[in-house]
Amino acid sequence: LIDPALAPLEFAVTRNLAAKSPAQRDEILQNPGFGTSFTDHMVDICWSVRGGWHRPRVQPYGPITLDPAAAVLHYGQEIFEGIKAYRHADGSVHTFRPDQNARRLQRSARRLALPELPEEYFLQSLRELIAVDGEWVPSGDDQSLYLRPFMFAKEAFLGVRPAQKVAYYLIASPAGAYFKGGVQPVSIWLSEDYARAGKGGTGAAKTGGNYAASLLPQAEAYEQGCDQVVFLDQDGNVEELGGMNVIFVYKDGTLVTPQSPSILEGITRESILQLARDRGHKVEGRHVSLAEWRDGVASGDIVEVFACGTAAVVTPIGTLKGKDFIDEQPSGTLALSLREELTDIQYGRRDDRHGWLVRL
Ligand code: PMP
Repeated sequence: LIDPALAPLEFAVTRNLAAKSPAQRDEILQNPGFGTSFTDHMVDICWSVRGGWHRPRVQPYGPITLDPAAAVLHYGQEIFEGIKAYRHADGSVHTFRPDQNARRLQRSARRLALPELPEEYFLQSLRELIAVDGEWVPSGDDQSLYLRPFMFAKEAFLGVRPAQKVAYYLIASPAGAYFKGGVQPVSIWLSEDYARAGKGGTGAAKTGGNYAASLLPQAEAYEQGCDQVVFLDQDGNVEELGGMNVIFVYKDGTLVTPQSPSILEGITRESILQLARDRGHKVEGRHVSLAEWRDGVASGDIVEVFACGTAAVVTPIGTLKGKDFIDEQPSGTLALSLREELTDIQYGRRDDRHGWLVRL
C-alpha cells in the first residue's frame, strides 16, 4: 500500500516577476551579512485537520497576510529550523544532514501540538526552493545560503487549543562568513537571574518563545561587555548558550557536553562529536555543573571550551564572566581543527565518509 501522505507533493510554481537582476543579486552576494536579505521566492504548504498537508506552493517572496486573531500572534504556537546550503567547487549545491533537521522539526512539532511535516516533504521543500533560487547560493569562502523552515498556527481563533489550520513556510537568506578575519573566541555572560528553559518545558524544541525568553539575558550580556549568554538549569548545571551548544575538552582528550531534556540537541554538536570519536576521542553526554566547569579550568583538567551551532559552526569560548568573577578560558587547537574538518566536508573539500551531504 502506498501511503498517500508520502506521495511527492505537486508544487504550484509562481515565478517572481520582480525578481532581482543577476547584477543586483551578485551585489548582495558580495557582502550578504546575516539574515537581512532574502531570495526571490518562498515555499509554503498548508495544513488543516480535515485536509492534512495540501496546497504546496512556490511563490514570490513577500509579506504574509494573517488574520489578527491568528493563534500564533497570541499564544506563540510556532516552531522553526535552521540549515544551510553550500556551493561546492564544481558548482553543485548540497545541504548537510537534512534528515536530522526534519526530525528535530517533528519533535518540536510534537511539543508545540503542531502537525508533523513528513521528512520527505521537508526535503522536497528545500529542493523546490533551490530549483528556483539556486543562483542565490554564494560561492565565497565560508559563505552559504541559510535556509529557514518554519511553521505556525494561522487559525483565527482566540481559544487556547492546538490550531486546526497551520502553515509551513521556507525562506532563504544568503549568509556571509560568520567570522571575518578568522575565528575569534567569544566572551560569555553567566545568566544567574534568568533561565532559558525549565524542567518539562520547551527547551528541547526550536520554538520562538525560547528565543524571546533569551533576549533580556542577552541584553544583560551586552551590558556586561560579553558576546553571548550561557544558561544553567535549576540545579546549577550548564545547559547551553542562547543559540549554540557547549563542549568541554578534558586533558585526557575526553569531550564532554551537557545532556539534559531541556537543551536543544544541535546537529553541529552531534556531528563534531562524531568526528572526534572517529579520531579516537572519548565522548560523554552528562551533567556538567558550573562548579565542575570553573574548578576544571582552574586545575587545568579542562583544556578547551567551545560552542557550536549551524551559524558559526564552532566558536572557542575565551572568557566566562559572572556577577563576581571573570575566568579566562584555556585555549587549544582541537576546536578549530574539528571546525576545519567539518567545514571541509560541508564544502566538499574532504571525503563525506558519513554520507552527511545531500545534493539539492
Ligand atoms: N542551541 C540552540 C538554543 C540553538 O538555537 C541552536 C541553533 N539551532 C543550537 C543549540 C545548535 O543547533 P544546530 O547545531 O543544529 O544549529
